[in-house]
Amino acid sequence: MINNIDRLIKEIICGGAKSSGKTEKTDRGSVCMPGQELLVKEIMDRGLCSSCGMCVGLCPYIKTAGDRVRAIYPCGIEEGACYGVCPKTSLDISEMDMFVHGREREDHALGIYSGIYYARATARADGAQYGGITTALIGLALREGLISSAILTGGDIMNPRPVLAATPGEVNSCAGSKYTGVPTLLELNRAAGRGLTGIGLVGRPCQVAAVRKLQRGKLPPERTYSDRLVGLMLGLFCFWSLSSELYGFLARETKGEEIIKMDIPLEGPGVLTKTGSRRWRVDEIRPFINKSCNYCFDSTSEWADLSVGSTEQDPGWNTLLVRSGQGRDLVELAADRGVLEIKDYPAGRLPVLRKAALNKKMRVLALAEKEPGNGGCPAIPDKYLREMNVQWGGINR
Ligand SMILES: Cc1cc2nc3c(=O)[nH]c(=O)nc-3n(C[C@H](O)[C@H](O)[C@H](O)COP(=O)(O)OP(=O)(O)OC[C@H]3O[C@@H](n4cnc5c(N)ncnc54)[C@H](O)[C@@H]3O)c2cc1C
Repeated sequence: MINNIDRLIKEIICGGAKSSGKTEKTDRGSVCMPGQELLVKEIMDRGLCSSCGMCVGLCPYIKTAGDRVRAIYPCGIEEGACYGVCPKTSLDISEMDMFVHGREREDHALGIYSGIYYARATARADGAQYGGITTALIGLALREGLISSAILTGGDIMNPRPVLAATPGEVNSCAGSKYTGVPTLLELNRAAGRGLTGIGLVGRPCQVAAVRKLQRGKLPPERTYSDRLVGLMLGLFCFWSLSSELYGFLARETKGEEIIKMDIPLEGPGVLTKTGSRRWRVDEIRPFINKSCNYCFDSTSEWADLSVGSTEQDPGWNTLLVRSGQGRDLVELAADRGVLEIKDYPAGRLPVLRKAALNKKMRVLALAEKEPGNGGCPAIPDKYLREMNVQWGGINR
């Protein structure tokens, strides 16, 4: 009896009949991928999980403990949904460009975008990281009914948590960067379970990629989500996230004082507490960088509708990349309503940003070459590799 119930759960959740384990085309045109066993072997056991949270809740046997995502029971399904949506498994960059943006990229540093700007919110939320445009844009989209709710990362630096925000006040309370890898996307599965659609989302590049894989239908045919589940994605710039071991370090260094804000500018990572501030050398927090970030090719959320980062010059402003038509519509609305102030991106800064992004990609390629067959590194077509090398050489000359 228990075995039967167990089998039934697996079939409902993963849509998973036993298979040859090979990738197969389904009649929906989507691709069934291998399941939990391979996810554990290729990604989790090798420390390559980025804690995006996408697989959590798709399966009752994948759970989180803080920022750790682990399989707690071997489901035995070879075509589970978990492998298909993982941003670290079988991701082809040009295929994703075509799926999301409908064309291949010309800029191999930043991906496909139609505009780059400096921007800031005219009314910054308390605790906003820089110019506060992420919070302001999500708040505007919610007020205008462009999204039904938003999946954000709330809590604080030492206790971040996934949040499904349904009011502008809840959106504002999630302002500020938490630099650990929070499995925020577990909320997406919960929201899907409740039948919500048109959800907005703010995520790291790996989280944006995971949602795009979900939208591409990398699920067994029985396990589908509404095409309208996610209505808008704002992706953050992210060169790496930190593991939760950071908390012990911060607690020791600040002697347990409440941390109001953390930032990682060029001068080195630092925190602001109620009584003062502390700054460290980047090498002091380097041991906490998540291993999966070393294999991440995307530091600017290339498949988001809008990408947001720092300016590295003025903490009162953000860098804003407009990538999709939907993203552009929202930015134009924000400018019309006086929600955002927008100015040209300084021409002299573009090579600096492009060089940082290309250098990161080159480091990933060098690592993947040293450790061939390593999961977690995306597939890059030869054409892209050739063009990227030329652009990188050009920018480093
Ligand atoms: C782990 C991490 C690494 C980053 N690295 C870089 C970098 O190398 N270079 C750079 O220019 N910018 C980086 N950023 C982005 C930067 O810190 C700001 O988030 C971004 O510029 C938006 O600023 P804002 O003023 O608009 O943010 P706000 O208006 O304050 O909004 C911040 C938003 O970030 C979301 N958020 C907070 N923490 C997380 C998290 N852990 N995961 C997902 N979403 C989160 C919140 O939900 C909120 O919606 C990083 C952010 C994170 C979370």
